[in-house]
Amino acid sequence: MTTINKIINKALDGAKLSDSEIASLFKVQDLSEEAFAVQQAGRRFSAELLKGKAEIHGQIGINVGLCPKNCEFCSFAIENKVFTESTELSTEEVIEGVLSMEAAGASAIYIMETANFPFEKYLEISSAVRAAMKTDIPMIANAGDFDDEGAKALVKAGFKGIYHAIRMGEGEHTRIPIANRLKTIEAAKSAGLLVGTCVEPVGPEYSIEELVEKTVLTREMEAVFSGSMRRTRIPTSPLAQWGQVSYARMATIVAAVALATGTGVPGNCTHEPNQLAIHSGANLIWAEVGSNPRDTEAETVRGWTVDRCKEIYAECDWDVLEGSSVMYS
Ligand code: SF4
Repeated sequence: MTTINKIINKALDGAKLSDSEIASLFKVQDLSEEAFAVQQAGRRFSAELLKGKAEIHGQIGINVGLCPKNCEFCSFAIENKVFTESTELSTEEVIEGVLSMEAAGASAIYIMETANFPFEKYLEISSAVRAAMKTDIPMIANAGDFDDEGAKALVKAGFKGIYHAIRMGEGEHTRIPIANRLKTIEAAKSAGLLVGTCVEPVGPEYSIEELVEKTVLTREMEAVFSGSMRRTRIPTSPLAQWGQVSYARMATIVAAVALATGTGVPGNCTHEPNQLAIHSGANLIWAEVGSNPRDTEAETVRGWTVDRCKEIYAECDWDVLEGSSVMYS
């Protein structure tokens, strides 16, 4: 307990943890005294960084596969054979979905496309969404990789930031080299876009070393938020054999990521919303409409509403931010 306490106190004091200290946080036994200490510290740290106000963001997935990038965890991957045809929402449907989440109190709106969706069309739809929105809450791009020109085009379309992650198993369970993901993040930052990220999707088979490596990457990219999401089991995916990480374990991982990424990364997300991770320091969760890559239905049945997100925060004694995102400001 003494070693873990020292690491926790070092993080709470605002000092940068070494890789081996981060590994020690991830290594604590589930349901042990140390695990609860990490979780309690993660909660305290995340609450302090956002002055006690958790955020709810809203995401709309505007199309469904078939994506040739074939990330093994994704239901849009052609090889996972979840969907047999590509479909997309009309611009009017996208606007309707966005306005419903905005009216319900989301603090930011994400527009998500699959990596093979035509970028020009994505920009067109997004510009129309921005023009239709009733408030100035930030619009965030969750898109495939892009270059400097693409980043500038996103700014022009009205985006304030992006969500982009170097995923667990990137380059091995995906066909996308880590270097491409990093280049996109650099292009976004050069264009003035803020970057949100996450250690995801976490499956039970990944090593502590990879958890540490991906966590440190999120700290180094100076993201507005990090955090952690578990992988949802897509039955036809080759990764399905490994099952899912329990939420009891995710509570420790989310708290450890908060302590490891430090004061420079105020946000600490989790997805999908769950009480254990929220109670342990997740200060950002998402409502969702449209498609999502963890679902086997084109119109998500897994996505939460903004109201339901508010309820789970209330159950975990978090105050919820009203108005525009502080993280993406
Ligand atoms: S995660 Fe993105 S890039 Fe990978 S298969 Fe799914 S839509 Fe394509």
